[in-house]
Amino acid sequence: MKIFNTLTRKKEEFIPIKPGEVNMYVCGPTVYNYFHIGNGRTFIVFDTVRRYMEYRGYKVNFVQNFTDIDDKMIKKANEEGITVKELGDKFIDEYYKDADALNIERATANPRATEFIDEIIQFVKDLIDKGYAYEVNGDVYFETKKFGQYGKLSGQNLEDLQAGVRIDVDERKKDPMDFAIWKNQKPGEPAWESPWGMGRPGWHIECSCMAYKLLGETIDIHAGGYDLIFPHHENEIAQSECRTGKPFAKYWMHSAFLNINNQKMSKSLNNFFTARDILKKYDSDVIRLFMLSGHYRTQLNFSEELLESTKAGLERLYNAIGNLENLLDEVKEEKIKENEKDYIKKIDEYRDKYIEKMDDDFNTADAIAVIFDMVRDINTNIDADSSKELIKHSLDLIRELGGPLGILQNSVKENLDEEIEKLIEQRQQARKEKNWALADKIRDELKDRGIVLEDTPQGVRWKKVN
Ligand code: AMP
Ligand code: ZN
Repeated sequence: MKIFNTLTRKKEEFIPIKPGEVNMYVCGPTVYNYFHIGNGRTFIVFDTVRRYMEYRGYKVNFVQNFTDIDDKMIKKANEEGITVKELGDKFIDEYYKDADALNIERATANPRATEFIDEIIQFVKDLIDKGYAYEVNGDVYFETKKFGQYGKLSGQNLEDLQAGVRIDVDERKKDPMDFAIWKNQKPGEPAWESPWGMGRPGWHIECSCMAYKLLGETIDIHAGGYDLIFPHHENEIAQSECRTGKPFAKYWMHSAFLNINNQKMSKSLNNFFTARDILKKYDSDVIRLFMLSGHYRTQLNFSEELLESTKAGLERLYNAIGNLENLLDEVKEEKIKENEKDYIKKIDEYRDKYIEKMDDDFNTADAIAVIFDMVRDINTNIDADSSKELIKHSLDLIRELGGPLGILQNSVKENLDEEIEKLIEQRQQARKEKNWALADKIRDELKDRGIVLEDTPQGVRWKKVN
């Protein structure tokens, strides 16, 4: 398996530190609001990376943090008249609701920064003791020039970076590129006791600390959106490597932006849709198929038209699933027939192609094209003369290849059953209320869909006629 490593700017063979296991840390949301569909892209991309690695047999320890203390959190909590803790609790709950609805698997751990304050303080202390950080009036700064490799992730050197910054008015810093790892309490801010007085952690230090605590000194994969390369991940590397003297992460992965009108979707530009709003109109299969239809390192433009055409494409896939499910019910022949054996081999080749694409730095765009090709092939070659075994094999294969992408797991038949049961119930209720017009309307609607109802002493039965 090959992964494009931001650190080396090359596609590299993935070799885990411990055979068979992957330790992965993804920077998660700041929990002051509902997340938008741009954040959603990043979460879906790395959920897919994780699922695919599991599909390939790795045990994946997947950590994604919640940033629950920072300027944005404090500002929003003040606006709402609640505590930062209450704000965090609320939007962590809301995060899970939306992430679950997007079929994002729960992480192995979702640490919150405020639950690691003691460990963060210890981390800061260690950096001071080792001479990499200094305190000024209750603030602690990391001294970038002490880390000779500063800039290695973003491909910049310290001199260029220094030349690029505006003259810093903050005279407490020794160098404009130094960054706060502990912040002195300002009036009205939540704070924790520390050797430097009351204060709170900086943003970068939380990820260094929690990755270390939960996954160890050197992790396999560290990931996040493209905007985190600098300064967030650059700073994480500086802190972690100065503290341990070891490489922080072997592979750095960054996903490209979801844009809207060719501009990054973001809260600050106010050009965003929340995941929740989009989920009202489209289910997770549509959203995920759309997000994964481009390579994760390529920017993707969001529009409703694109979602609509993705939905139409997805319907083709689900029609095939529905047909296979119906055939399974109808067909009598159980065992695979002699002349079908070659065909099984042929469709299994789609799996090989799919793996080849996904192994190549998670090329979901091409992997999806393979699924569409396979489904077209199955549509033209499987019918009522096929054996149950072949039909089942095809259905399982579609589901298998959809699995790592988090799509195609629904049953058309079960959904239909549920929907029809619901309509029948509504009709019964209408009849009870002597609302004959509505009852007839529901019966006609079902009839249009080829469903006929039969009133029996045991209740209403339905069957599908073609
Ligand atoms: P935030 O809550 O802003 O810290 O972002 C959470 C995650 O979403 C980070 O990994 C960001 O890089 C990522 N992200 C933010 N905006 C976008 C976007 N428009 N497209 C893709 N990822 C994004
Ligand atoms: Zn982070």
